[in-house]
Amino acid sequence: MLSLFGSGIGRGIAIGPAYVLKNSDIETTRITIHAKDINAEVKRFRKAVFETEEKYKALLKNLSKDAPKESAAFINAHLLMLKDPLLVDESIKIIQKELVNAEYALQSQADNLIAVFEKMEDNYLREKRSDVQHITNRILRNLMGIVSHSLDEYNDEDLSGKVIVGRDLSPAETMFVRDRKVVAFVTDLGSQISHTAIVARSMKLPAVVGLHGSSKYISDNDLLVVDGLRGIILINPSDSVLKEYKKRARKIREREKKLTTLIRKASKTEDGERIQLMANIETAKELREVNRVNAAGIGLYRTEYLFMNRNKAPTEKEQFQAYKRIVTNVEKPVVIRTLDIGGDKQLEFNYPNKSSSESPLGLRAVRLCLNHVDLFKPQLRAILRASAYGKVSIMIPMVSNFDEINQVLTIIKQTKTELKQKNIPFDSRIKIGGMIEVPAAAIMAEIFAQKLDFLSIGTNDLIQYTLAIDRVDDAVNYLYDPIHPAVLQLIRHVIRAGEKANIPVSLCGEMAGNVRYTRLLLGLGLKQFSMDATYLLNVKERVIAADTSRFRYLMGKIMNAENPTQARDYLGKLNEL
Ligand code: PEP
Ligand code: MG
Repeated sequence: MLSLFGSGIGRGIAIGPAYVLKNSDIETTRITIHAKDINAEVKRFRKAVFETEEKYKALLKNLSKDAPKESAAFINAHLLMLKDPLLVDESIKIIQKELVNAEYALQSQADNLIAVFEKMEDNYLREKRSDVQHITNRILRNLMGIVSHSLDEYNDEDLSGKVIVGRDLSPAETMFVRDRKVVAFVTDLGSQISHTAIVARSMKLPAVVGLHGSSKYISDNDLLVVDGLRGIILINPSDSVLKEYKKRARKIREREKKLTTLIRKASKTEDGERIQLMANIETAKELREVNRVNAAGIGLYRTEYLFMNRNKAPTEKEQFQAYKRIVTNVEKPVVIRTLDIGGDKQLEFNYPNKSSSESPLGLRAVRLCLNHVDLFKPQLRAILRASAYGKVSIMIPMVSNFDEINQVLTIIKQTKTELKQKNIPFDSRIKIGGMIEVPAAAIMAEIFAQKLDFLSIGTNDLIQYTLAIDRVDDAVNYLYDPIHPAVLQLIRHVIRAGEKANIPVSLCGEMAGNVRYTRLLLGLGLKQFSMDATYLLNVKERVIAADTSRFRYLMGKIMNAENPTQARDYLGKLNEL
């Protein structure tokens, strides 16, 4: 048995066979064939095309109900291309004329077509290049008998019950495993507050990231125990260890069951402070958990996930339907955050992104939206239209200066006027808030509070930017410290700015769902928490047991601590009070 240590995500323990991801690049080589083998080669090629067609048809048939409408259109378009003589017949001609193998003939013809599309002026037609390569790869896989070990739509294997093992997973890939019934994942890279980790939490998947070299030690079908709480994985454990972990997993389930008794209890501290516990969601799939734990509403809906794993932005209509579905399903306040793309959250479809890097300091979130009003405006219209069906607020991510707020407010005002002119209903008094994620915004909170209806502290980014550490880079992950005095002072400053302006302040970073910080945040005067719904009852348990009138002395000690060790010691004492 071998054990590896990394950063744990989720409280659970999962046990299952490993599924090791591999690089999906396909290389073709030119092989000369004999004239007598031409027919056999053509037959082999036609068979691969037929199999590809059958797989596409199966994909179409098994498309989940929630899949964007575009997915079906995408598959249908590829099915049509499979019948296109320019791809199929021309490849056959190459086999016959040049006496070469089918793989090489197909890739040569695909290269010819790609070269033609590349020269096109029209953006839409130029994009066809990727369709050609996409379909070519599919046929090549069938020709060469390659099974996709990547998290993409080529992968039609049964992944249920498996533990995914990879170097790293993008947020989009993590979303892909959502529907595939995998039980856990482990990666070499990654940190606890990366977006990938956030998605894993929302899926209730235990994971361990930052394992360094896990794929070197793990082979396909090795039995793995993934302990998300402790950040440990065990490879091929002995029977007695396996038994012990099964016992622990059972205990976790029992505790979860016990917490359900808190669902209907008021969220109030022992000294009578009402605390609002709201949920963060990425997709409508999480609503069942949100409603189960009786969250006070959605404090953060990360809409960017609606834009991922697709080759075109969702239309206004599609967005409106998605937002409306959430608003009507929850029947409580819903804070919809506008598109937070950029940095580690990239889109598959092409939009003219001026930012040259995936740096978190680049054209991200509101910056990107203000640079691409073509992406922003349809979203604002869709959110406004959904506001006619419930209590909706708009939240702007990563604001860093006053002008940005003004620009956004102007665009929202214009959008409202346009809707009014067309008699399209919306909530004309919709609240507009800003996320405080950049130190500059935290420092300016009093000024921002004059323009906005509410503030929400995004500690994942606020910590990243305050301490100058990339949240997805596990090499600097050890510096990620939510109780760094600079971070705590900024949080306190923002809460006070909200009190002064008499507007609500919530906190929606991962810190809100970590029970280690519940008392600390209550001590800082926080009244609204927004977290992954799977954490809500644990936090509620801490809230109900807290008597904030006893926190003053230790809060003073934590806020004035000279170093992290001292701060941690005092935090420990606060949690034991
Ligand atoms: C945050 O930064 O704390 C936050 C909630 O936003 P995200 O994690 O989506 O960047
Ligand atoms: Mg953020």
